[in-house]
Amino acid sequence: MSPPTFIDAPPRAVPAPVALSYELFPPRSEAACRTLWVTIRELEATDPDYVSVTYGASGSNHDTALDLVDRLQLDTTLRPLAHLTCVGGTAEELTGVVNELLDRGVRGILALRGDAPRNGSRPSGSLRYAQDLVELIRGAEARRSAQFAAGKVAIGVAAYPTKHPESPSEGHDVEVLLAKQRSGADFAITQVFFHAEQYGLLVHRARRAGVTIPIVPGVMPFTSLRRVEKLSALSGVAPDPVLVDRLRAAAGDEAAVRRVGTRAAVRLARAALEAGAPGLHLYTFNEHAAALDILARLDLPRPSRPLLAARHRAAV
Ligand code: FAD
Repeated sequence: MSPPTFIDAPPRAVPAPVALSYELFPPRSEAACRTLWVTIRELEATDPDYVSVTYGASGSNHDTALDLVDRLQLDTTLRPLAHLTCVGGTAEELTGVVNELLDRGVRGILALRGDAPRNGSRPSGSLRYAQDLVELIRGAEARRSAQFAAGKVAIGVAAYPTKHPESPSEGHDVEVLLAKQRSGADFAITQVFFHAEQYGLLVHRARRAGVTIPIVPGVMPFTSLRRVEKLSALSGVAPDPVLVDRLRAAAGDEAAVRRVGTRAAVRLARAALEAGAPGLHLYTFNEHAAALDILARLDLPRPSRPLLAARHRAAV
């Protein structure tokens, strides 16, 4: 037997960098736009992998969403992940929006259904599920793939650590996630959650069912009780009563509220990362302070991009 060579030696495990991304929403006024751009510049300095831009159900903010996506691409070093919702849109309309995004150079889309109208009705002709939108995007991509040097559009989808309000069970949610993967989804970002075990259980169930795509935890800085309650009402996710009590006790003392909310988010993010989360997606609510506090405490292993760091230093 010949002596082992370097080629035979098992490769040394290099820890993979943790992905980092932020969610932004298109501003609704001039004043909101100005503060958003302060936030964008602060977040840009942390060199995330992408920033996602929300999209209203039925395309209610189509123009402002596309404007923000454009400006991110033209005026910053950030890569946008454009959310797209299919509720209320026909296949023809949605193909049009997908082509608009691809024409603008967008190469990442988060394919969502969007929240159904409160009366549960579905406008005729509209796509029914996010899975249908994933298929529609893959179809649009296939028609022009040569343009992307045969590269793929990255398609993300939503995943749920606690049962989606319209779903019969967590098991059904996992089946839906598997169906979205089969239709061409590349990764998933989770809905807000309050307990790390909920994230761990989702990943466990998903892997057992055959879901192989990365499932990135979406973490919200819990620095506003009003926002926690509003989001819980909208998403149907019950907030952690202990956290709610702590935020209530700190009410009136801004620094204390921020401390309580940031600590809780850091604990949650850290536990999800320890459970093997491949990245972290922060719901910023267009504010940078809490997101930066969380990052400072987490000290994520991130790839270094020396040229970008030099550019930031020069800009300061
Ligand atoms: P789907 O995957 O279609 O699921 C919707 C419901 O249908 C679920 O109950 C599911 O179990 C069921 N279902 C799905 N497929 C099937 C099937 N084949 N057979 C039977 N049942 C099925 N909303 C916005 O309006 N704009 C945004 O920008 C936005 N961004 C979001 C970002 C993230 C990371 C997340 C987690 C959510 C976001 N949402 C957004 C909210 C989202 O639109 C809602 O949660 C919506 O109710 C469901 O969207 P979905 O893409 O998960 O839908």
